[in-house]
Amino acid sequence: MAKHVPQRMCIACRQMMPKQTLIRVVAGPEGGLRLDERGKLPGRGAYICKKQDCLNKAIGERRIEQHLKQRFLQSEVNALEKEMKKLIERETSPAAPPKDIIGRDAAGRTVRVIKRAAEKKQKHGQSK
Ligand SMILES: [Zn+2]
Repeated sequence: MAKHVPQRMCIACRQMMPKQTLIRVVAGPEGGLRLDERGKLPGRGAYICKKQDCLNKAIGERRIEQHLKQRFLQSEVNALEKEMKKLIERETSPAAPPKDIIGRDAAGRTVRVIKRAAEKKQKHGQSK
């Protein structure tokens, strides 16, 4: 039997998508907007595809506010847009820098070692 995949609707394109492929945005208890990367924050949530088009629509047409039935400060909306753009870029970029991936998953020491190696390389190139 096929495993059940929870589906949610994108507030911009109104397509049903597997939950993991959408970004969840949550209205915080104090009214702030929050990006819910893991889909676990409490509160009313709106789902948006990880696509620039859907992000533009959701923000430009104030779909997030409509969906959450709440008004948000422009600064909050801007901050959220920035965060989401970053997330979309990270998810869609086929050539994510490997040092980033290692740095995120491994211990702090590993990150430093890799960074130093990268710096060395750079210095080498400059001194030429
Ligand atoms: Zn969409």
